Formats: sequence, structure tokens, C-alpha cells
Amino acid sequence: MTLIELLDERSRRHPEPRLYTFLEDGAEVTLTRSELASSAHRIAAALQSLAARGERAVLLYPPGADYLRGFFGCVCSGLVAVPAYPPDPSRLERTLPRLRALIADSGATVVLTTSFILSMAEFLFTDAPELRALKWVATDVPEAGDAAAWKRPDVTADTLAFLQYTSGSTGTPRGVMLSHGNLLHNLEAIHRAFQTRDDSVGVIWLPPYHDMGLIGGVLAPLLAQGLHTVLMSPLSFLKRPRAWLEALTRFGGTISGGPNFAFDLCVRRIPPAEREGLDLSRWELAFCGAEPIRPDTLARFTEAFGPYGFRREAFYPCYGLAEGTLIVTGGAKEAAPILRDVDASALEAGWARAPLSTARTLVSSGTTLPDQSLRIVAPDTGQVLPPGEVGEIWLKGPSVARGYWRREEESARVFQARTAQGDGPYLRTGDLGFLDAGELYVTGREKDLIIVRGRNLYPQDLEVVVEESHPALRPGCGVAFGVEVAGEEHLVVVQEVDPRRWDGNAAPVLGAIRGKLASVHEVRPHAVVLIEPGSLPKTSSGKVQRRATREAFLAGALRELHAWCTNALNGM
Ligand code: ATP
Ligand code: MG
Repeated sequence: MTLIELLDERSRRHPEPRLYTFLEDGAEVTLTRSELASSAHRIAAALQSLAARGERAVLLYPPGADYLRGFFGCVCSGLVAVPAYPPDPSRLERTLPRLRALIADSGATVVLTTSFILSMAEFLFTDAPELRALKWVATDVPEAGDAAAWKRPDVTADTLAFLQYTSGSTGTPRGVMLSHGNLLHNLEAIHRAFQTRDDSVGVIWLPPYHDMGLIGGVLAPLLAQGLHTVLMSPLSFLKRPRAWLEALTRFGGTISGGPNFAFDLCVRRIPPAEREGLDLSRWELAFCGAEPIRPDTLARFTEAFGPYGFRREAFYPCYGLAEGTLIVTGGAKEAAPILRDVDASALEAGWARAPLSTARTLVSSGTTLPDQSLRIVAPDTGQVLPPGEVGEIWLKGPSVARGYWRREEESARVFQARTAQGDGPYLRTGDLGFLDAGELYVTGREKDLIIVRGRNLYPQDLEVVVEESHPALRPGCGVAFGVEVAGEEHLVVVQEVDPRRWDGNAAPVLGAIRGKLASVHEVRPHAVVLIEPGSLPKTSSGKVQRRATREAFLAGALRELHAWCTNALNGM
């Protein structure tokens, strides 16, 4: 089956019930399956007269109905969609380079957008003259195409459907080639894991530019028969997190979620008095993934919103990545998240055992989806490791993408791995973790590990301790990484301050950070840098970029407020 057939079939069987409701500036815009199909065919017809099958078309829309029409229009035309997001005019220096890189890397020839953005495109051409040569199409005008002229393209399950760029947490985003078959397999898996029903209601604020928002938030609902999904823009959520929970309350949302930080943001930004009036009792599945899941976050959220109907069992921890289409593992729908205490120092040495002294609590990311197989493999030898041993997560199955766009060597290395026993091909995820009773515990990214005196330190563990060490620090806005000093790896911490609580007095803050790192992790940083709020390098999906921060640190390019370094004190 293909996405084109899925849209056809669903729009014939359930033409009228609303599929999506977009909450836009206080207004509600709805889209039914039949409306989606007819606008997709109309846009597809316009595209077919403009470009040949297989050409890449960048989607440049704000979140909303036009995005979805454009996406499906592109898919139905046989062009390859490249989801992107419009550069932010107030932060052009940060957002335009991403778009240019995406266009150059994908070799796109077409840009699909709205007439409003098209009218502003001249501004972009001043800074990025190469964009002028692309074919710009505004799809929100009725004259853009005639559905009757649409010719069904010759696509099969193996045809490339779209390029999904990775978030760019560890480097430059790479274009993952997703086939129709990859997508259908993952959508089916989500549908089964989430046990979606005709009366399920999704509430999604995740950006449609990334896998979680596009595949999980927008495409998955199409597969489930009568499901209704309420969509809002990520900005509305970030500006006012209560808007998310209000939408869940008002529409009786049953499926919703986001990365760990989203749940924390709700606890922090919705004080007890503002929780009144919320009703989260219909929320059956609160997926949480895309970044490490913190046990404290789950506990705090349950405590804060339990009185308003939220049930701990609703949490659905899951793990996935762009190269695996979206979801790779997930919990059992009705069960509460599974927590496991492991010995902190054993984990640093690469294995999980019951705690002897200090414990680290990990949240299980669930079990493998049907018809896929997941192995934990020693990254250097290719040996498959037994349960309880930490290694790289390898994955085989129909959801594994076809490779990276125009990166043959890297694709072969990442997507065609074989174990020492010759079993394969596997996708190397680059993530570390272990299995225990079939449950996957993700411990962190291999590339981000900081190896200090033989200990494997996971940056996210140090980052939690740092951000909680002093109230003047901004949670979720700090990173830890290693640098080489005199032939040895040393820890560096970079952390934003919270503008509301920072009084310019660095000494107590730096002291608190160093004190906590010493007492909790027995590690002494080589440098601690406090930086301006909002200046930590992050991906457009809000993930921290440790490597980019490290490069900026080494180049002296951080927006530094105060730095402490061992060199300055005792000349290491
Ligand atoms: P890039 O590949 O460009 O560096 P990225 O890996 O962040 O960016 P995505 O594919 O969007 O891009 O994110 C997938 C990654 O997110 C996983 O490889 C993993 O590192 C992290 N992740 C996802 N789910 C979890 C989870 N449950 N626990 C810990 N980490 C997770
Ligand atoms: Mg990745």
C-alpha cells in the first residue's frame, strides 16, 4: 500500500467526519478526509505540470491546514516532499542557514508555500540569492491546480515518499529516505501500539516539520478510521503551555504527548492556582520520547495534574529516530511506566546491575514493535550482548529507512551493519542502551559520552544535576561535553542563566554547580561557562546540540556571562 492509496481509501470510506481541527488564533479550522484528498489532488495536478516525478519539493508552511494539503499534494504528485519550516524574520541569521542547507542538500527544485510567505520571499532572496531560481508555488489559492487533471503517479511501496531530515542534535541534519512502505509499516505499528479507536481524540502541538509531529501527529490519525485530531502550533504551546492542557480538556483528548521537556514545562509554567478547571481524565496515552525520559519529570507531572484527572498509567514512554521512520519501541498502553534502579558506577562501566551504593533510575522505553528485531551490540566488535550489558542499539525491520539521501558511504556504514556472526543488515542507531526482560533502557548517545578517567559519563545525567544546583539556572538549557586537555578528556559544562533570577553574581552559582557535580557524580569539571539566556545551540525541535556548543566553546564563540576554568586558578 502507499500513502496515496491510504488517503483515497480513507476519504472514500469516511469522507465527512472531521479529521483535523486546527486551533489558529482563537479560530477553529476543520479539514475532512474528502477535503484533504481533493485539495491534495488539485495541488498534485499543478505540480505535475511543473516538475517531474522524483524531484524534491520543500514544504515551507507555518503549522496548519495548508501544510497538510501541501504535504499530501506533493505525495500525490509523485514529487518527493522535504518538510521544512519558514525562516523566522526576527532570527534570520539562525533560521535561514538551516533552510539553505536543506535546499542544497536535497537538491530541491520546487518550494511549496502560502501566498503570504511567497509575498515575503523577496526578503529571503537578498540573503540567499540561490533561492530565486527555485519554482515557488503558493498552494492556498484555488487557481493552483485542477483536481480533474491529476494523474495518479506510478508509485509502489518501495517508492521514496519523502525525505525526513534528522533533528541535527549531533551534527548537520541528514535526509533520511522514507519509502511509502516504511511509513505504512510504522503507522500501522503506532496504530496498534496506541490502540486507537474510532472515538479516540488526538491533541498535537508538535511541529509538523519533524518525525514526531508529522508521522506521529498528523499521518498516524489518517490510518485510524474515525479519529479526530486537534492541532495547534508549537509556538502557542511554548508561549502558554496551559493551552495544550486546555485543548485536551475541551476536546476530551485521549492521545497526546511530546518530549520530556514538555511535561516539565507544564509543571513549571502552570502554577497550582492555574490548574483549576483542567480535566485530563480522558487522557489514555501520554507518549513521551525523542529525548531521555526523566523519572522525576513523570513523577512531578503526575503529582501536579493527578488531581485534575491525569493518571500515571497514561504515560507511554517510547523510543525512536528518523532513521527508523518514527517509533522503534514503546510501552504497554495500560501499564504504568517501568522504572529500574541500576548501580551508578556499574553503569559507567557498561553494565546494569542492582544498585550497591548510588542508584540511577532509568525509565524503560518499552519493547520492540512487531516484525522488527532489536539487538544490543558491542560497537567495536559487533558482538551481540546479553541482557543487562550496555551496547549500541541495532535495529532490523520494515520501518528501517532506505538510507541517507546522497550519502552512500555513511548510509552503508549506518544502515548495512552486520553483527560479528554475520547477521544483518542492521541500522546502527548510535544510541546506547541495554535490554532487561525485553524492555529497552536507553542510556544515551554514543557520540555524546564523556569518558573521564575510564568512567563513561552520560551528559544528560550531569546536566540535570547542574540545572538543579541553583535557582538562577535555566532548566533544559545546559550541556555537558568532553574536551581534551593535555591528552586527557575533561568535563566542560555550559549553562544558560534564568533572566528572572540571575543577579549577575556568578560566584555562588559556579560554586553550587561544582559542589553538586562533586557530591553527586564525584567529578570535577575543567570549565563551567554561564551563558546568556536563549543562546545555547538547539535544534529546531528544541533539542540541545552538545557538539555545536563544544565547537563554539573551543572557538570562544559562546555568549558568555561568566566562565570558570581550572587553568585560570592552578594552571593544569
Ligand atoms: P541527529 O541525528 O541529526 O543528530 P537526532 O538524533 O536528535 O539528530 P532524531 O532522529 O529526531 O534526530 O532523534 C532521535 C534520537 O532521539 C535518538 O537517536 C535518541 O538519541 C533520542 N531519543 C529518542 N527517544 C528517546 C528515548 N526514549 N530515550 C532517550 N533518547 C531518545
Ligand atoms: Mg540521530
